[in-house]
Amino acid sequence: MDFLAGRHALVTGGGRGIGRAIAAALSGAGAAVTVVGREATALVDTIACGMAAGYVVADVTDESVLGAAVAGAAAARGPIDILIANAGGAESAAFLKTDAEQFHRMFAVNVMGVVHATRAVLDAMLARRFGRVVAIASTAGLKGYPYVSAYCAAKHAVVGLVRALAVETAKSGVTVNAVCPGYTDTELVRGSIARTAEVTGRAREDVLARMLAGNPQQRLVTPQEVAAAVLFLCSPAAGAITGTALPVAGGEL
Ligand code: NDP
Repeated sequence: MDFLAGRHALVTGGGRGIGRAIAAALSGAGAAVTVVGREATALVDTIACGMAAGYVVADVTDESVLGAAVAGAAAARGPIDILIANAGGAESAAFLKTDAEQFHRMFAVNVMGVVHATRAVLDAMLARRFGRVVAIASTAGLKGYPYVSAYCAAKHAVVGLVRALAVETAKSGVTVNAVCPGYTDTELVRGSIARTAEVTGRAREDVLARMLAGNPQQRLVTPQEVAAAVLFLCSPAAGAITGTALPVAGGEL
């Protein structure tokens, strides 16, 4: 079904992991998708695989670079109708070993990355009285986890931002939502498992089992399952859904 035909979607972090699956799902529904990342190779490959129509290289933590990149994408494929603010990163450490710099890094990419991307597209959405903004937060935006205090604080901030923006834009034809995945099978999680195994000396299977202890389904979420939730929130059927934080987490929340 091409229910997104004629729409231009921008997916930050669209070159791999969850963002790439979202790009594929939106393209599959007929949208022209622009993927954003810091490194061109993965973005070019996403296009080569038919999951996106174009790419721009930008670091989401740099407001002016991202703004120029979004303007370039809009010039090439039309104004942005759908923003998926997905780019993010996770660092872990016990709170007493988490310095201010780690908090700044986690807020820069996970919170300000969403802020900068939204500021780059929202004006034009409001003018056209249509828009879909979906931020990829996390279950870490809705509950606490040990050893990721900076990441958890940042993702809670993303959920707060979405809730505030949804109220502010409620009468404008723009919806603003968060999707909150549980542990999902991507490089981010595989890297985290490898690092924890190295630091603790535990087997990777053991690290994964402890990761999944709070998940009733006892398995990692797939990037495609996250993308399916995003696709729904971007569909015409979801026009009355705004300000929600939707867990895709196997019953963890
Ligand atoms: P990956 O590490 O696999 O991918 C992250 C993507 O973000 C890459 O495409 C990367 O591209 C891009 N990116 C990272 N930093 C920047 C930056 N500063 N500017 C532009 N692009 C950037 O992560 P996931 O796919 O697993 O995660 C995607 C989102 O989902 C994140 O927000 C994450 O917090 C969230 N999430 C992930 C979960 C999981 O278990 N995997 C669970 C819950 C939430 P490049 O390096 O080329 O810039």
